[in-house]
Amino acid sequence: MIISVASGKGGTGKTTVSVNLAASLETPLKLLDCDVEEPNVHLFIQPDEMVSRTESTFVPVIDEQRCNGCRKCADLCEFNALAVIGEKVLVFPELCHSCEGCREICPEQAVQAGSRELGTIETGSWQHVIMSYGRLRVGEAMSPPLIARVQSIIDPDDLVIIDAPPGTSCPAINAMKVSDFVLLVTEPTPFGLHDLVLTVEAVRQLEIPCGLVINRADIGNEEVYRYARRESLPILMEIPFERSIAEIYSRGGLLVEHSEEWRIRFSGLFDTINDRAALQEVGR
Ligand code: SF4
Ligand code: SF4
Repeated sequence: MIISVASGKGGTGKTTVSVNLAASLETPLKLLDCDVEEPNVHLFIQPDEMVSRTESTFVPVIDEQRCNGCRKCADLCEFNALAVIGEKVLVFPELCHSCEGCREICPEQAVQAGSRELGTIETGSWQHVIMSYGRLRVGEAMSPPLIARVQSIIDPDDLVIIDAPPGTSCPAINAMKVSDFVLLVTEPTPFGLHDLVLTVEAVRQLEIPCGLVINRADIGNEEVYRYARRESLPILMEIPFERSIAEIYSRGGLLVEHSEEWRIRFSGLFDTINDRAALQEVGR
């Protein structure tokens, strides 16, 4: 069972939901922060020890002694990561998507394996949670490969909660696409609604069941609620705009550790998701 917690825009409370959902349960689970450009789950779930590893990906290195300048590699590369000037091949590593097609096609075996650092992955254990997050290298343009590395620790029988990157572009889609259920966190404001609509469209393209958590539920207007009714989107939880909640959050605290009522609400949220995902599975 893989649950992604996503939002159309940043700052809606996605991480609050991810960490409290994970902490409210007692069964072993993996909590993966796939927001690799700005991971922050570790500010709330803090293992005593973290293991760090650096992740790299393939980029071509041209052996000039072997290369005859035939251009086959540059013609193949869809990402313009290779260019031939005269008989010399120029490599633009930041554009490379690591498909290794150039290596396959080169008739002279002149394309050797080099590497480009993607970033680091930190992993540790906290109570019943194995927590892992990626941190993209400063200057690295592509986050999906590092997101895939964070997700590589998922085993088939795992219970997994993924804190997805905000938005509806490649990183968010890559983080969500492995999910059985997407929990969309939004707020009842015009900006919240605008980005929610885009995210719902993306999740529907992926054919993954979803439900809403409305954060700061007592601000803004009724439009998000009307939209949810129109689109038959279940509202699974509302979190009020309260000073006490903001204070716990700002100290890096967990709502479920401060309040038994919230622990019950978040574990109930998990039960609801579990039931809905199971129903969807039966309907397939
Ligand atoms: S395909 Fe091989 S031989 Fe041809 S230009 Fe590229 S590296 Fe050189
Ligand atoms: S590995 Fe793929 S993307 Fe990278 S340079 Fe070679 S053909 Fe282009």
